Amino acid sequence: MKPGHCVVCDTPTWRMAFDPGSNQEILLWPKPDSVYAGIRHEGLDSRGERSQSLIAVGISYCPSCAPAVGERSAAVPGAIEVVELERARARYARWYTASYGDWLRAHARDQLRMDDVAITKLLKQWEDDRA
Ligand SMILES: [Zn+2]
Repeated sequence: MKPGHCVVCDTPTWRMAFDPGSNQEILLWPKPDSVYAGIRHEGLDSRGERSQSLIAVGISYCPSCAPAVGERSAAVPGAIEVVELERARARYARWYTASYGDWLRAHARDQLRMDDVAITKLLKQWEDDRA
């Protein structure tokens, strides 16, 4: 499972940018059409006992791979069934707020060292995604 990518086909489910400070790609905000599943699975609970009622949340899918509630999904080891689905905008509402936009602009300039053209382009993408 790769953060910010569809668990089935590896398509990015998040907008990303290169961070020259850490020398790696970072996640910026979820694409508005991405979908997040809660999957009931079997495994060891916090007491170390076998359980079939563990829930893994926030498993990301691109729209074409998104499962249905009740479906079996191979995305998580021991997966039993999908118990909930959330759209990006519901699960990650904070990433679509004006205050996140303010932070994003400053972060793009200070941390990601983008120039004005790149920042304008990034903010346009973000505004389009949250429209
Ligand atoms: Zn996919």
